Amino acid sequence: MKSLAILGSTGSVGKSTLDVIRENKDEFKIELLTARTNFRLMAEQCKEFTPKFVYLENKEAQKSFLDELGTNNLQVTLLSDEKELNQIIASQDLEIVVAAMVGIVGLKPVFQAIKHGKHILLANKESYVVAGEILNNLSKKTGATIFPIDSEHSAIHQCLMGVKNEESISRLILTGSGGPFLNRDINDFKNITPKEATAHPIWNMGDKISVDSSTMMNKCLEIIEAKWLFGFDDIDVLIHPEGIIHSLVEFKDKSLIAQLSIPDMKIPIAYGLGFPERINSGGDSLDFEKISNLSFEKPDSKKFPSLVLAKDCINSGGTSFSTLNAANEECVASFLEGRIGYLDIHKIISEVLDKSDIKMVEEIGDIFEADMQSREMTKELININ
Ligand code: MG
Repeated sequence: MKSLAILGSTGSVGKSTLDVIRENKDEFKIELLTARTNFRLMAEQCKEFTPKFVYLENKEAQKSFLDELGTNNLQVTLLSDEKELNQIIASQDLEIVVAAMVGIVGLKPVFQAIKHGKHILLANKESYVVAGEILNNLSKKTGATIFPIDSEHSAIHQCLMGVKNEESISRLILTGSGGPFLNRDINDFKNITPKEATAHPIWNMGDKISVDSSTMMNKCLEIIEAKWLFGFDDIDVLIHPEGIIHSLVEFKDKSLIAQLSIPDMKIPIAYGLGFPERINSGGDSLDFEKISNLSFEKPDSKKFPSLVLAKDCINSGGTSFSTLNAANEECVASFLEGRIGYLDIHKIISEVLDKSDIKMVEEIGDIFEADMQSREMTKELININ
């Protein structure tokens, strides 16, 4: 049995991971589950999956969790702080770490897992976007493996299987559904509400990533994530609203390989958990007869200017990735709280990128510093707004 930790088990990727585990109960045992606040769902997950350790970031939630478990006398140890959490992530008993939390908060635990040579299933794209170079260098030293479970990157991983020579690849093509506003009039973008922005037409996800999808910042982050994961800069984006083709690789001979399935996170998660074997995902088959059409279009960079920021940041390098990510996290949170309008998200992020001094990244501390400075500047601009 392989032992695993799911960091962020009550979120959408965490829940899908447990769905896949349920299909493969004899293959995996759960060592650790973590969440921020959702103690009720955590208690339910504990009753079903009996992890050895649980960590809840929120102190109130820790207390409520114990009440919720009540007399269910489970052999679960509730970790009290980040230090204890880091010890469990470092422990030899743990093989696989599923990084399913959202945002830069994922960077420290992902760093810890890589430092201790774990097999990491990465859904937390933000950590890789901001620190890809450092994390790649560290994993080379420790023998850690980083395996993407973002559907696009999982697709590219599958398309690249068996490719021995990098020179045979001509480009990577990331597909994107285009989000909920693909066909909305650009003049009406100023009226977009948080409720509209969090209703994704294809994927069922948390609020932050849904807003990122609607602005296509998600695709911008995914371009940067792909650069670090596959060591390749020639990355195109193709809008494909049906979400059936998850990404493609074009080779030198102009042959293309694509990966297809219904849009269901359980499928890329099962690929990551089972690799190099294939295991049951619990997902449905793709019914070709029911798909009436697969359509494609070029992304509209006027409507979705975030896409341009990916190339800008790749050109600038250094701390530009953490500056971009932190500004985005702050703007999305403020938009969801109703403090800024939809169009302000991009406007403020661009302004922060323009005004920030981009520095070289030599160590992980440089990233946290750039993150903090970007957040401060973003908050100031949000308050003026
Ligand atoms: Mg994705």
